[in-house]
Amino acid sequence: MKRLLGYLKEHLCVTILAPLFKMLEASFELFVPLVVASMIDVGIGHHDIGYLWKMGGLLILLGIIGFSFSITAQYFAARSAVYTGKSMRSDLFAHMNRFSYQEIDQVGTSTLINRMSNDINQVQNGVNMFLRLFLRSPFVVFGAMFMAFTVDHKAAVSFVFTITALAVVVGLILWITMPMYKKVQKQVDGVLKSTRENLLGIRVIRAFNRQRSEEENFRLQSRQLYSKQIHVGKISALLNPLTYMIINWGIIAILWSGGKQVDLGYLTQGQIIALINYMSQILVELVKLANLLIILSRAFASLDRVDQIFALEPSMKETGKTDIEEKKDTPILEFKDTSFVYHGARKETIHPFDFAVKEGETIGVIGGTGSGKSTFVSLIARLYDVTSGRILYRGVDEKELKPEFIRGKIGFVPQKASLFEGSLRDNMKWGKEDATDEEIYQALDIAQAREFVDQKEQGLDFRIEQNGGNLSGGQKQRLTIARALVRKPEILILDDSASALDFATDARLRKAIKENTDNMTVFLVSQRVSTIRNADHILVLDDGKIAGIGTHLQLLKENQVYKEICASQMAGEEA
Ligand code: ADP
Repeated sequence: MKRLLGYLKEHLCVTILAPLFKMLEASFELFVPLVVASMIDVGIGHHDIGYLWKMGGLLILLGIIGFSFSITAQYFAARSAVYTGKSMRSDLFAHMNRFSYQEIDQVGTSTLINRMSNDINQVQNGVNMFLRLFLRSPFVVFGAMFMAFTVDHKAAVSFVFTITALAVVVGLILWITMPMYKKVQKQVDGVLKSTRENLLGIRVIRAFNRQRSEEENFRLQSRQLYSKQIHVGKISALLNPLTYMIINWGIIAILWSGGKQVDLGYLTQGQIIALINYMSQILVELVKLANLLIILSRAFASLDRVDQIFALEPSMKETGKTDIEEKKDTPILEFKDTSFVYHGARKETIHPFDFAVKEGETIGVIGGTGSGKSTFVSLIARLYDVTSGRILYRGVDEKELKPEFIRGKIGFVPQKASLFEGSLRDNMKWGKEDATDEEIYQALDIAQAREFVDQKEQGLDFRIEQNGGNLSGGQKQRLTIARALVRKPEILILDDSASALDFATDARLRKAIKENTDNMTVFLVSQRVSTIRNADHILVLDDGKIAGIGTHLQLLKENQVYKEICASQMAGEEA
C-alpha cells in the first residue's frame, strides 16, 4: 500500500485533478433535473416555446461542459493509473532480476509472470476506477439528496428511507460476494498457470499424445472457474432488480405524497419530475459505487500478492569484492566440505566433498540422470549459494565476491540451449558487448558453428526467432557454446551442452577447445564416457555423492560406479 501511495505521489498533479474534474462533472449533472423541472412548469405550463428553446439550449450546454470535464477527468485518471502500473511493473521486474535461482524456484516462473501481468493490471484498473468514482459517487448521492431537499423538504423522509434501504441491500450483496470474487480470482490464477505450462510444453504434449488428457485437465479447471463465476454472478445479479425495486417504491412514495401536494398547490409537476430524477441519479451512483468496491477488493488482493513478491528479499546480495589478489600456485577453484540442499528439499542434493582444480585443467563430470551434475556446476557459477562448506575462487570464498564478478569469469553453457530473438551477432555479443566480428567468428570456429553460419546468406546478420525457433537443437547448442566462448572466459562450463551433437562433431569441438583456448579451465558435464574420458580429472557423481575422482584409467580400475557406466556405453575391448 505504501508503495502504491508512493507511485501516486510521484504523479500528484494528475492524481488530484482526476477526481476534482469528476466532481465538477457531477455538479453540472445535479442542475439538470432543475432545468427539466422549469421546462415543464414554465415552458410547457405557459406554452412558452421560446423558453423551452432557451432551456433546451442550456441543457445541451450543461451536457457539453459535463462531457468535457468527464473526458478530462478520465484522461487524468488513466494517466495516473498507467503511470502507476508502469512504475510498479518496472520496479517489480528490477526486483525479480535480483532474485537468485533459489527465489525463482521458490515462487515459480508462472507465478512471477502472473504478478507482472494480471495482478499489476488489476491494480492499475483499481487506481483508475477509484480516482474516477471515489469522490464523484458520494458527491452525487449526497448532492442529489440535498438538491431534493431544496425542492421539497418533505421529500426528505422518502429519500432517507430509500437510500438506507439501498445501502443495506448493496452492502449485504457485497459482503456475500467479495470473498467469492477472491476465490474466483484464485481459480483464474490456476487456469492461467496451467495454460502457460501447457503452451510451454506443447511439443512434449504432442510427442506423448497427451493432448486429450491435458484438454480434460483444462476443461475441469475451466468448469470449476465457470461454476464459481456463475454462482457469484447469480448473487450479484440480484443487485439490479433489488435496487430498482427499492427505487421504484421510493418513486411511488414521492408520486403519492407529491401528487397530493400538487393538488394542494404546494408543489408543481416539474418539481415532482425533478425529485424522481434525483432518486434515479442516486440509484445509478450507488450501483457504480458497489462495482467500485468489487474492483477495489480485487485490486487490493492483487496489490497484496505483488507486495509479497516485493517483500521477498534476494538471498544472494549483489555486493562483494570485485578484485582479488593473484596468488601463485593457488588452485583456480577449491571445494571445501561443499554441500547443497535445494529449498524445501529434505536431503542434500550435493553431499559434502573436497576437491581442487588447477588453472587450465579439464574436469569431466559424469553420473546418471538426477545424480546432481547440473546442480554441482550451478554452484561454481554461484547460481545458488552453497548450503555449507565453501567454494574458493583463487583462494577467496565465492560468497565474498560480487556474483557479477565471478560470473564474468565463467562461460556457462546450460543444458537447455536458449537464444533470443534478434540477429546472430546480437546473440553472440551477450558474452561480450564490444566483441568484434573477428572474435565472434573465432568463437564460432571453436564451437563448430562456422560452417552453418557461412551457409546463411546474411552471415552474422541472420535473424534468430524467439527461443531460436528457426534452428535445430544441435545448431542452438553450438551457438550457445560460441556465445560463452566469445568472452574468452577463465572457466568454461559445458553442462551436457553437446548432447545433441554427433560423436565426430563432439570430438572436434573438444579438440578445438583444447587447442584454441589459453589456459582455460573447462568443466565438461556429460552422460557420455567418450566426452569426458580424456579429462585431467573425472568426477563421478552418484545420487549427489562423489563416488570417485580420478583419470579415466584410474577410475576404470578402481571405481565400481564408473565401471558400470563404461560397461553400459562402450564395447568391452574399447573400455
Ligand atoms: P543431473 O544434472 O545429474 O541430471 P540435477 O543436478 O539436475 O541432476 O538434479 C539433482 C537432483 O536435484 C534431482 O533429484 C532433482 O530432482 C533435484 N533438483 C534439481 N533442480 C531442482 C530445483 N530447482 N529444486 C529442487 N530440486 C531440484
